[in-house]
Amino acid sequence: MVDLRAQRQRIDARISAAIARVLDHGQYVSGPEVDALESLLARRLDGVEVVACSSGTDALFLALQSLGVGRGDAVIVPSFTFVATAQVVAQCGAVPVFADVRADTFDLDPESLASVTGKSLDGLRLAAIIPVDLFGHPADYLAIEEIAGEVPVIADVAQSFGARSAAGAAGAVGTMAATSFFPSKPLGCYGDGGAVFTRDGALAEVVRSLRLHGQGRHRYEHVRIGINGRLDTLQAAILLEKLEIFDDEVRRRREVATRYEAGLGHVVRTPAVRPDVEPSWAQYTIRVDNRDEVAAALRGADVASAVHYPLPIHKQPAYCGFPVAPGGCPVSETLSNQVLSLPMHPYLQPDEQDRVVETVRLAVA
Ligand SMILES: *Cc1c(COP(=O)(O)O)cnc(C)c1O
Repeated sequence: MVDLRAQRQRIDARISAAIARVLDHGQYVSGPEVDALESLLARRLDGVEVVACSSGTDALFLALQSLGVGRGDAVIVPSFTFVATAQVVAQCGAVPVFADVRADTFDLDPESLASVTGKSLDGLRLAAIIPVDLFGHPADYLAIEEIAGEVPVIADVAQSFGARSAAGAAGAVGTMAATSFFPSKPLGCYGDGGAVFTRDGALAEVVRSLRLHGQGRHRYEHVRIGINGRLDTLQAAILLEKLEIFDDEVRRRREVATRYEAGLGHVVRTPAVRPDVEPSWAQYTIRVDNRDEVAAALRGADVASAVHYPLPIHKQPAYCGFPVAPGGCPVSETLSNQVLSLPMHPYLQPDEQDRVVETVRLAVA
């Protein structure tokens, strides 16, 4: 699905040198590359505060904890997403409430959201909303923030770093945002990593403390219950090198998406792009009614494909007891039977892509 080898060939010497520098200075934890990464990301996002951390999941957890989300609270999340979005809510002791998504863009449906915010939550306080920029397409933050009012919005930008919409760049939108540097995300390291973003300096300070066991003014004073949520120096060093080519890689992903749209737009349901959005194309996900046949045809042609995601969260054994929007999540349920992600990465060659397009065309004919 993602060709990390082609990327490595491109920047191999630089990555090796960056790793060697960390091995030389030996500050494997909280080394200078972590500060440099936070500053560079902050500059990219026009002064947003950046707290690098151990994963995208931890980034979401730190954001919720910094807002004081806990028992007695409800947090609205889309049902059609990666499980981490809902998991962190339950881990805080709060109740995830599942809203539906839009069929065309796969992201949180403002109407379904409004149907939850408009109803009583059985005595729970609505503490946050977590829209997800699924597959790299930013959610409709202008509509969502209007519905949210005073309720904090935490943007799950694990898949959309590098994307933007009318509301701003992914990471710079919402009360807070959380991203992931997992290898297969648009900006990936060589292991686990993530970051929390916020314009609120006080919240950023709380996240920094929570990331470091809830540290206070000095190393052995603990003013809150935190986690060990640091990003490794080696991963920060790798990310600094990858950022050098990141804008070019996002541009190439957009070219790949354009070619898919030209080849498949008339034969299957291709992902819609809201007019104000420039996606980062973490995934290119089509909708087909005969998914098993299409996937088998791709396998036969030695082409990778994947199902993101085969079961909406509100149908998962561990989550089916949590509340769902008044109208349910019928779109999430339908999508989970139709979606198929095709190979998408910056180094996908036109001839390889032609083979994917041709195989899908034959399989749906
Ligand atoms: C990957 C992902 C996460 C979790 O990130 P990790 O770094 O794997 O912990 C959270 N939300 C979404 C939407 C993701 O795709």
